[in-house]
Amino acid sequence: MIPRIGIIGGGFAGIMTAVNLIKKTTTPLELYIIGERSNFARGTAYESYLDKHILNVTTGKMSAFPDQPSHFLDWVMSRPSFRDLPKDIVSSSFLSRNLYGDYLCELWQESIKIAEEKEINVVELVDTVIKLTNTEDGIELSFLNSPSIKVDKCVVATGNQIPKNPSIPNLPFFKSPNYFQNPWKKECVGDVNSSRPILIIGNGLTMVDTILGLQDHKFKGEIYSISPNGFNILPHRHTGLTYQAHLEEIHNKMSLKELTSVIHKHVKIVRQFGVSAEPIIDALRPHTQRIWRNLTVVEKQFFMSRLRHLFGVARHRIPLHIYDKIQKLRIDGLLHIQSGKIIDITETDRGIDVTYFDKKQRKTQFLKVSRVINCTGPETDFSKLENNFLGQCIHDGIFYQDELKLGIQTNVENFKVKSKDGMEHSNLFTLGSNLKGELWESTAVNELRQQANAIADIILAEENFIDGSNK
Ligand SMILES: Cc1cc2nc3c(=O)[nH]c(=O)nc-3n(C[C@H](O)[C@H](O)[C@H](O)COP(=O)(O)OP(=O)(O)OC[C@H]3O[C@@H](n4cnc5c(N)ncnc54)[C@H](O)[C@@H]3O)c2cc1C
Repeated sequence: MIPRIGIIGGGFAGIMTAVNLIKKTTTPLELYIIGERSNFARGTAYESYLDKHILNVTTGKMSAFPDQPSHFLDWVMSRPSFRDLPKDIVSSSFLSRNLYGDYLCELWQESIKIAEEKEINVVELVDTVIKLTNTEDGIELSFLNSPSIKVDKCVVATGNQIPKNPSIPNLPFFKSPNYFQNPWKKECVGDVNSSRPILIIGNGLTMVDTILGLQDHKFKGEIYSISPNGFNILPHRHTGLTYQAHLEEIHNKMSLKELTSVIHKHVKIVRQFGVSAEPIIDALRPHTQRIWRNLTVVEKQFFMSRLRHLFGVARHRIPLHIYDKIQKLRIDGLLHIQSGKIIDITETDRGIDVTYFDKKQRKTQFLKVSRVINCTGPETDFSKLENNFLGQCIHDGIFYQDELKLGIQTNVENFKVKSKDGMEHSNLFTLGSNLKGELWESTAVNELRQQANAIADIILAEENFIDGSNK
């Protein structure tokens, strides 16, 4: 029997799992790649409504393959518009996310050709998986529109979910055409009227993308951004500077308190030389998954409530030229970044009334805006999302959330999803954002390319083992 493998999700994680399976298999396979839309390979991140939306990682670090670090850079340099540019500058530049989407699409098309040569049947299915049933003779996937299918193994690569709605009493507001829960859709910046301000909830990288989108649509009015901490987004400063002295003091048995005190000590040291915390946080990147896994649940909860935002500001930065644009808007009085909590939002014929508690001024404030765009980041508590496949799997007792409700309980050594009693589903794998609770850092290409590669190896090793004829 030819093994049937289903991959739910046609974004980076799903497609790169398929690319690796196709590349490495020595025997025929049947591969079903399932995506909600036909934009296979691009996913949410690499199909943007604006070419000015750029990667937040430099070109030299965006290879799709862990063992070929310059794969993306070489692909870029082979294109006519880059060929004559200095490679080191291109390597440290932040290119368009759409260009990265082109790279992934090309990779995917090449893989489909290789699949044909290797007698691998690739089926691209555009539909939404609504239910997963683990039966004795395989996994049954049910769809919104198409007839269900059965596969022997399934990889859940569902990626980033949309943000959850803010908690306000006036729930009917969320049905308003002037409320945009999904900030990655073009509609949220289109058809704007500059005479009244716009409210963006959240002030991270998606806020920046949304502002660029609004400007591109000639929005000239005021923008308010409200988030719990109101931290200012930082630019990439200290480019090329590395600092590693703190790593020598960090070990596995450390408590979160000890860890933060080591980091504080080193931040103080570098500050004397005019350097801020970012190189210290950057150096932790290869170690953050291990550090996270060694923390207790209480420490993880403390990190989420007290340190996550500080960590995020140091970690998720924007290129200097984009930062300058954001700063100019602030100086011109067109962008107001507030620290606060939304109390309620109501809409009348005269516009949208927002009531919020201003943390700095310690009082309730009011705003009148024409639209509200939710940029609070992907929701990780899937049980809170309506009509959501992962939420359904949790409800059906197939998936279990981790203690912090950041993702799905999984054995991260082999990427097998855990069942109720901590045992593993032998035929069900997941990767990417679904592993946030297990690994914390599990959303960027840096982690996803390794996970996709490893899952392909594990699946193929098991298939060869199960079916002797496959050897
Ligand atoms: C706006 C944005 C910009 C980013 N920029 C960068 C960057 O510059 N560098 C970097 O390293 N990382 C970046 N990231 C992180 C990003 O998460 C990863 O790089 C990567 O794109 C994630 O891929 P994925 O396949 O896990 O998720 P996604 O790209 O979200 O793909 C998941 C796919 O699964 C589909 N799906 C979900 N549920 C179902 C279902 N029930 N049935 C069928 N299909 C389903 C979705 O429609 C989607 O197409 C960015 C993320 C975002 C959101």
